[in-house]
Amino acid sequence: MPTSVVTGGAGFLGSHLCDHLLEDGHRVICVDNLETGSLENIAHLRSDAFVFLNHDVTEPIRLDEDVDFVFHLAALASPVDYMRMPLASLKVGSYGTHHALGLAKWKRARFLISSTSEVYGDPQVHPQPETYWGNVNPIGPRGVYDEAKRYAEALTMTYHHQQGVDTAIARIFNTYGPRMRRNDGRASVNFIHQALEGKPLTVYGDGSQTRSLCYVDDLIRGLHLLATSDEHLPVNLGNPDHEVTMLELAQTVIKVTGSTSEIVFEALPTDDPQVRRPDITRARQVLGWQPEVDLEEGLARWLSTLGREPVRS
Ligand code: UDP
Repeated sequence: MPTSVVTGGAGFLGSHLCDHLLEDGHRVICVDNLETGSLENIAHLRSDAFVFLNHDVTEPIRLDEDVDFVFHLAALASPVDYMRMPLASLKVGSYGTHHALGLAKWKRARFLISSTSEVYGDPQVHPQPETYWGNVNPIGPRGVYDEAKRYAEALTMTYHHQQGVDTAIARIFNTYGPRMRRNDGRASVNFIHQALEGKPLTVYGDGSQTRSLCYVDDLIRGLHLLATSDEHLPVNLGNPDHEVTMLELAQTVIKVTGSTSEIVFEALPTDDPQVRRPDITRARQVLGWQPEVDLEEGLARWLSTLGREPVRS
């Protein structure tokens, strides 16, 4: 039975990854300080093969047992969270990644870091291939997340080249689905709950900025495939088929929820990327991976988990 450590394992993606690994026969050690993760996300995991450690990864991670995989997902991934806790964001990306890499090196484990499309910043190349170096403002409000992840990638590649650690880098694009925190602040979760509560949907700016939305199950499948491959270079994981403007996303959510909410426009945050869509050629070639769940279907599945009946077209 392989043993996997999942940092950020009580978070949105982390908890889905724990589910997936347990189903695949892994023993899972979930490490989380519950800053943005929650015990609710892992409450259903009552197997002997699952262990929860309440630990902050900015402190060294010491484990007695053998470890085969380290999935380093701990991060303050939502703009609302990393702008509220900017130093914590820099620390988890730097010290946290250092400690997770140290654990992988000590245990001779395969290491996978959840990097982000944010390394491309406000991209001037569209869609974004892994070879694009990005357009990031290091001292802007998003810099505390973007630069932490860019540093984490540099650290990961250095541990690979210089220390021989078996590493993988997933550049994750916008992902949505069950267990996103109600107050996480991201567009998909805000819109879903605003629509369900009959409140106005808050579109920032004129809503012409785009994001490409990937359903969580597709993303988790991609992470697992990457972890079990022998790829060391960054791989984009996201859904290029569903690049939508934020106004279109709001309209789709209203349709799928059958809501009577209206749309209101609010100020656009500083340095908000105008466009974002992954080029997933590498993921297709190296992993044979591509997303399968389309946007309306994904939103419908999410709604079902909230006890609501989706309106299907
Ligand atoms: N956004 C919005 N309304 C909201 C929350 C976010 O219009 O209630 C916009 C935000 O300005 C950005 C896009 O939606 O252009 C995606 O934001 P999100 O926080 O989901 O993630 P990001 O891709 O910016 O990290």
